[in-house]
Amino acid sequence: MSAHRGEWCGERLRDHGYRVAARLLAVALLPLAFVLAPRRARHVACQWALAARFPAENLAGLTLATRRAFTAARTQAFWHDGTLIGLTSGYRNPAEQRCLYAEELRRIELATTDARPRVLPAEESRHVVGTALDVRPAEGARWLERHGAAYDLYRVYDNEWWHFEHRPDGPPVRLRYPGASLGKTAVLPRPALDSA
Ligand SMILES: [Zn+2]
Repeated sequence: MSAHRGEWCGERLRDHGYRVAARLLAVALLPLAFVLAPRRARHVACQWALAARFPAENLAGLTLATRRAFTAARTQAFWHDGTLIGLTSGYRNPAEQRCLYAEELRRIELATTDARPRVLPAEESRHVVGTALDVRPAEGARWLERHGAAYDLYRVYDNEWWHFEHRPDGPPVRLRYPGASLGKTAVLPRPALDSA
């Protein structure tokens, strides 16, 4: 237990360090951002600092509206509340999604207990149309769950704290897991993996 607690404390300290460093970086970059984009300096400086904190993230392929909503939300989270929000996965091309779905079907097939699908097929995934966002860390997701409606960003699934979607038409019905609305049962039928 104490080892776990030590790990947990270490993570908290590390996250706190990241927050402080990113904040300092944003403030340091503000003058340069002001020169380049006087009316959006804060937004620009925040995006630079967040890009430095989450260097592997890729916002390409998101729809313009989704990207704008996400960057506006995380600027607010960062600047006003000191909360970092990074993108783990945004747009996926259909081939990537098909691959993830095939892996998921394999996982479910091998599971000893009832397993629920955590991935949708390419034709149903909003990642493929560029309006879904998997975010991190959990603290950032909690912020987005509380404040995302102001940006038309909503959590959609009970079992995925990280998955948000840009829904300008209003809040979606919250589902228990991906595919739940389609009436699928918890365990999918045996798939033909090579064609998934
Ligand atoms: Zn997702």
